[in-house]
This record gives sequence, structure tokens and C-alpha cells, in this order.
Amino acid sequence: MIYLNGQFMPLEEARIPVLDRGFIFGDGVYELIPVYSRHPFRLTEHLQRLDASLKEIRLPNPHTVDEWARLVREVIARNPWEDQSVYLQVTRGVAPRDHAFPVGADPTVFLMANPLSTPPQEQVEKGVVCVTAADNRWLRCNIKSISLLANVLLRQVAVDAGAVETILLRDGFLTEGSASNVFVVRGDTLLTPPKNHLILPGITYDVVLELAASGGIPSEVREVSEFELRSAQEVMLTSSTKEILAVVELDGRKVGSGRPGAVFQQLYRLYQEFKARVMRTPAPPQALTG
Ligand code: PMP
Repeated sequence: MIYLNGQFMPLEEARIPVLDRGFIFGDGVYELIPVYSRHPFRLTEHLQRLDASLKEIRLPNPHTVDEWARLVREVIARNPWEDQSVYLQVTRGVAPRDHAFPVGADPTVFLMANPLSTPPQEQVEKGVVCVTAADNRWLRCNIKSISLLANVLLRQVAVDAGAVETILLRDGFLTEGSASNVFVVRGDTLLTPPKNHLILPGITYDVVLELAASGGIPSEVREVSEFELRSAQEVMLTSSTKEILAVVELDGRKVGSGRPGAVFQQLYRLYQEFKARVMRTPAPPQALTG
């Protein structure tokens, strides 16, 4: 069951007009919220990032945080899976094709749920292979835009190479993955690039930095050079669906020992414990009637 502009319906019945500016211009933003045992993970933070994306594209938020939270919980309750990924998207609505903002168009609001697919155990235990590419995206990567063509093309670079993710470099510095944030370990310190216009401010990125602090792992948020990435003892990917994954091979060269490292192991364990705590919190969502 999905939600579209005020109504819940089966996905197959959902229709949007071809003049939706999401379809015509990619003029919209989205969020993806992981749900564990029917508990949305970091819901407030996802809704805050949604609000920030909407502000960046100058689209008034069609809902309050409470309204959004109710919609998310309702979609979760109406779908059969315990673990879900809830996707939500807002576009600038339906209007005659003209680049300029339409006057009087209502935004299109869409939510759907899918079964959550986290990485297979083999990827967690053995780590994953990545490649690098030049980050040729625009300079507003902090917006969670549905215009994902550059990310799509960059991700395919990994797929074509039999790799899991493409790690991006801009002007000799690490930015992020095509659909993930990147952390490296040098010495005993966890490093990751700062949140700015060059990366998406990942929700998992924040969780990992908090877990590092709680676990006594020193961390530094600062620019990471290509050299530092390539000579790191450990490299990790984070995202809502990848959670934390160790990168054990980059562009055909081993990362560190070629096996998931100690910092990854500790962060992965802390992440799973943190998830388990979230799942034990009370008040699992109830379906509204009607
Ligand atoms: N960067 C990019 C480009 C992404 O697409 C994603 C995943 N949506 C992330 C980082 C990770 O963000 P999050 O931890 O919120 O899933």
C-alpha cells in the first residue's frame, strides 16, 4: 500500500500525470527511512533533512513534522513486512512545462514501503569491493534531490566493474559514495569529510560518529585526500540500507589487510546494538482506521 496526495492505495493503482515536474524536470526531493521491527529509525532526523532539502529548492513543506510522522507510521502499519524501507518524495507538482516555478500548483506527495534489504552476511563478514571515479555531480549535493542522473551513472561504473559502490573524488579529495558516505581509518582515528555542499548529510554518518564517540574511537571530521583514502588501513561505507560495510579492495588494490578491520568490527557491533535498542522502544505504530 502506498500514499499519494491524500489517499492510500495499492501501488498498482497509483498514477501521476505526465506533466508532474518530478517526471519532466526531476524537480523534487526525497527521503529513505529504514524501519526495523516496524520502528522507523531516526525518523525526526530524516524529516529534518527533508525540510532542509525542501528549503534548498524553495518548495514550501506541505506537511508538519507531526503530519509526516503520522503518514510514515501509517504506511508502515499498512504494509506486511516487519523491516521496511519507507521512501517518500515531494515534487513541485503538475503544471504546463516551463522551467520557472509554477504558480498555484500543489506539490505531489508520495510514500511507499518496500521490504528492507540490508547487505548479505557475506558482505558484512568479508567486506566489499569498490572503485573510484571523478565526482562530476553538481555543487549542491547536500540536497536529497530526485535528480539522480549523475549518481545513477556513477553507480553503474561500480556495477560494470563488478563492485558494490563507486567512491568519488573531487579535486584530489574524497567526497562520498554514489549512494553512501565514506569513512577511513588512519592510525587509530576515524576520518570523514565535513558536511557541506559536496556531500549528502547522511543520517547513518551522524549515527556512526556518535557510536565512535560512545565507543572511545577517536574521530575527526575533516577533508580526506586521495592519498589518505588510498593508503588508509580501513575504508567504510555507510547508508540507511548498507548500514556499515567494510571496503576491502579499492580499484583492484587491497585496503589494509584486505579484510574488514578492527574499527569496522567495533562500529558494526555498536550499530547492531543501537538498532536493537531502537526496536525495543515502546509504542509501535498502530494503523489508523479508515
Ligand atoms: N550520500 C548519498 C549520495 C546517498 O544517496 C546516500 C543514501 N541516500 C547517503 C550518502 C547516505 O545517507 P543515509 O545515511 O541518510 O542513508
